[in-house]
Amino acid sequence: MSETRHNWTKEEILEIYNKPFMELLYEAATVHRLHHDPNVVQVSTLLSIKTGGCSEDCGYCPQAARYHTDIEGNDLMSVQQVKAQALRAKSTGSSRVCMGAAWRNVKDGEEFDQVLEMVRTINKLDMEVCCTLGMVTENQAKRLAEAGLYAYNHNLDSSEEYYKEVISTRGYQDRLDTIDNVRKTNVTVCSGGIIGMGESIEDRAGMLVALSTLNPQPESTPINALVAVEGTPLEDQKPVSIWDMVRMVATTRIVMPETQVRLSAGRTQMTREGQAMCFFAGANSIFAGDKLLTTPNPDVNEDMEMFAVLGMKPQKPFTKKVQPKTVEAAESQFEALGEKPKWTRPEHIIERNEAAKAKAKTLK
Ligand code: SF4
Repeated sequence: MSETRHNWTKEEILEIYNKPFMELLYEAATVHRLHHDPNVVQVSTLLSIKTGGCSEDCGYCPQAARYHTDIEGNDLMSVQQVKAQALRAKSTGSSRVCMGAAWRNVKDGEEFDQVLEMVRTINKLDMEVCCTLGMVTENQAKRLAEAGLYAYNHNLDSSEEYYKEVISTRGYQDRLDTIDNVRKTNVTVCSGGIIGMGESIEDRAGMLVALSTLNPQPESTPINALVAVEGTPLEDQKPVSIWDMVRMVATTRIVMPETQVRLSAGRTQMTREGQAMCFFAGANSIFAGDKLLTTPNPDVNEDMEMFAVLGMKPQKPFTKKVQPKTVEAAESQFEALGEKPKWTRPEHIIERNEAAKAKAKTLK
């Protein structure tokens, strides 16, 4: 079995990415088969539990309050609403619910307590629970773990260099520190990024260096193709070609052999044949449901039809790791510390972000 390495260099990764296509595909498929059942795909449902109104300036995101997009903002959902959605997701083959809140970072208080209750509720439905809530402190990560959280998502987005061309309101190190805080618990790490934001192939390799040299490597890595939303700074980016997507998936599979590589945003732009090529290249997870936070996604029935065509089946929950135990709020060992961590705000000027913000002002 090929070993998991934590010392990949950018040059080595570039060499893999740029191999002749068929060789790359064959090598990735070989690594994939050594570590995973090639006919099993993990299915996650992404649920936006709090939408829009975000203070950050991520250039790809329609939820940033400073840009003018036509998404509908929502306050935090109730625990009952989340439970109903989770049951629906379970009935259509999802093993995991990933709850996303458009927050810069988690703040102790009523809303976080409500999220902890959502985690407890979904874990008791025997589904894997993942959250993506922004930056978290060690104490907050421990409280999530105690509630029964299975995974925490915090994407690196791109290489450290290109990240600065997309986001100015927080730093790359904050992302790594959040992953580090999650690693102090038993919660698994989900971290990946987006291609098609105007980055170079070197930046893609740079992101894979950052992810693959984490020790342990993330248990899951979403590879998103940018969905260019009108009103965001990246609205004019051209769609990612399927060839780039397959190369990125295959390279991720080779440098992170144990990781579940997830096809995430941008699947609506791919044909079934294109997605099949991604599965052959080592993708073994998808997001299901007709929406990915705020952008469109294939219908769940279409996905199940695709699975039938390909002879694939959804992965059962807790296949890779045992189900965490849920500790009720009344028995918690951890209390809200009300910390005020100093997450950075580099605030450098990104011209296209400024232009999108200025345009939004004229439209409001
Ligand atoms: S990606 Fe997350 S942090 Fe960035 S603007 Fe969107 S919701 Fe906010």
